[in-house]
Amino acid sequence: MEPEREILAGILKDLKSQLLAGKEESRRLTVFTRGGGGREEPLATAAAGPSLTLAGVREELGDCRRCELADRRRNLVFGEGDEKAELVFVGEAPGEDEDRQGRPFVGRAGQLLTRIIEAMGLSREDVYICNILKCRPPGNRNPRPEEIRVCEPFLVKQLQAIRPRVICALGTFSAQTLLKVSDPISRLRGRFHAYEGIPLMPTFHPAYLLRNPGSKKQVWEDVQAIMKRLAEGRDEVPPAAAGDVPDKGRAT
Ligand code: URA
Repeated sequence: MEPEREILAGILKDLKSQLLAGKEESRRLTVFTRGGGGREEPLATAAAGPSLTLAGVREELGDCRRCELADRRRNLVFGEGDEKAELVFVGEAPGEDEDRQGRPFVGRAGQLLTRIIEAMGLSREDVYICNILKCRPPGNRNPRPEEIRVCEPFLVKQLQAIRPRVICALGTFSAQTLLKVSDPISRLRGRFHAYEGIPLMPTFHPAYLLRNPGSKKQVWEDVQAIMKRLAEGRDEVPPAAAGDVPDKGRAT
């Protein structure tokens, strides 16, 4: 089956099982893709609801062969961390170490990310870490639009399952893919954007920092803004309106 048909078939299967289970969709989310002429077109409208879990998304992804990256990968790198994380880091794609271990951000750039997380007073177990692509592009080349297009729906569902309070997009591909913009990371970083109502802070990728240590100051400013945002609302009394479910004090 062609990758696009395969994704649509997966989404339809997902919708059907939710309907059969009699579960109400709380929200609908449209995954956009760039069509001919660079226009953004809806690829699919995925069912989203409280029933979505990371385990369910992982199961749906399965032994993914939706793009050619599957042929050369050693391990698919789904993501790891706290299913209820308030903060999610989204990188670009697994590198060689990640491909070997099946875990995100475990190579040199990953070790730097771990140090950044620890400098925030957190541990890797407190947050969730994943990538735009789940499989390593050969030779660490840039992700291709087609690869992003078929893989992104799973990231979307991961984020729906977690519903973090803040997302940190690491590097150009992550920020541009999540925000559907083409501005360079240097213009996007340093301020919050919105992803499906969730504050999203783009910052430089740790691999870029390894090559450009002078930019560490800017990344530190970005993560401090994230820490401030996470601290806000922790002490707030949730709104008392009937039926209002306090949801980790999420900013909208
Ligand atoms: N770079 C990324 O973007 N992701 C990883 O998991 C590792 C390196």
